[in-house]
Amino acid sequence: MGEPVAFRCVSCKREYGPWEHDYYCPRCGPVKGTLEVLYDYGALARKLSPLSFAQTRRFSLWRYEEVLPVGFEYAVDLRAGWTPLYARPELAAELGLSALWIKDDSLNPTGSYKDRATAVVIAAARYLSRSALTCASTGNTASSVAGFCAAAGIPAYIFVPEATPRPKVAQLLAFGATVFAVEGDYSHAQRLCEEARERFGWYDRSDGVSPMNAEGKKTGAYEIWEQLGGKVPDYVLVSVGDGSVISGICKGFLELAELGLSESAPKVYGVQAEGAAAVAHAFARMKRGEGILPAEEPAETLADSICVGNPKDVVKAVTYVDRTGGGFVTVSDEEIIGAVGELARKAGVFAEPAAAAPYAGLLRLLRDEVIGEGAKVAIVITGSGLKNPEGALRAAGEPLRVPPEIGAVERILSADAL
Ligand SMILES: *Cc1c(COP(=O)(O)O)cnc(C)c1O
Ligand SMILES: [Zn+2]
Repeated sequence: MGEPVAFRCVSCKREYGPWEHDYYCPRCGPVKGTLEVLYDYGALARKLSPLSFAQTRRFSLWRYEEVLPVGFEYAVDLRAGWTPLYARPELAAELGLSALWIKDDSLNPTGSYKDRATAVVIAAARYLSRSALTCASTGNTASSVAGFCAAAGIPAYIFVPEATPRPKVAQLLAFGATVFAVEGDYSHAQRLCEEARERFGWYDRSDGVSPMNAEGKKTGAYEIWEQLGGKVPDYVLVSVGDGSVISGICKGFLELAELGLSESAPKVYGVQAEGAAAVAHAFARMKRGEGILPAEEPAETLADSICVGNPKDVVKAVTYVDRTGGGFVTVSDEEIIGAVGELARKAGVFAEPAAAAPYAGLLRLLRDEVIGEGAKVAIVITGSGLKNPEGALRAAGEPLRVPPEIGAVERILSADAL
């Protein structure tokens, strides 16, 4: 494993010993004082080659054990990571790009990118001898924690907003988690979870809380790099709620560059819904030389997984994105719904609304000429369309209703209306 050398506060830059604090810099507190895990990159660079990861012969994120803070011996046997990277040359050509890749993280065990973080957080919990996990979540972190806890045989205590889509709630309950549907929105669930973790001593996997999250989430970047034969795209687009997934992806690409494994990092763009754009606004403030915090604002979008008004990993998200030379873009709910349909029809990938947002963001950045013709772009699909089928139904319309007769099928197929 990667032997962390320090956990550093993202705001005051104070360094703590590895594992000295579970969640935050005690001087800066939550949100402002999130921690980042540092390694001895010089030593790692000397040890690693582009082939080091393949030599593990592991087809999961534990392939990257050398750059993770806990060893494979603590891993739960539920495969997260090593998801496919699909090339879509026809769609790329249609958009004027020289390459378009789709990283399909809907194929994780519980159907979202969140499984990457949970895999590493639960391994850390076992390493630290913690006996239960908790989280507040818009839904996907919750399913992920419930699934991994079931596989590990430990309890999961979960706080979700009452409006969480039913398919997501069904998934948590099926895994046997204790589920609290909190009256109120995601911020209320977050606050209640924090209190419960202090009261009952549970290990908190909530997004933007444990520095282990970014360690798991960075593996998506390592995979894109490895799946492209040791190269990186010009641009990588990912949707943003708390800012945890994008922080992890940026950290992965920045580490690859620091380790000398890639020439540079791609420009990473965060995509947010217009009605829930706290991180994009914080980025704009930072670029104007104003404060990143406080970032809290009202949030409303049908893309439930990114409906976040009080982003917990905003400091990391905006500083890391800036370091890659990327930025943020916002899209409307109509554009997101359109993207669900177009991505499914033109690329064969069925994404939930939040996960289709990067495609909507790509169309917007092309229109605004931020991304130029001939660019090579990867978009990250963070969650399965089966998680929130309502969004898809709004994009897809209704099936063709027929009596059980072949003549009826024939008439419809030959109709000019089709
Ligand atoms: C959680 C999630 C995101 C956003 O990740 P953050 O870390 O909250 O920014 C995007 N898409 C899906 C499907 C998610 O579940
Ligand atoms: Zn601090």
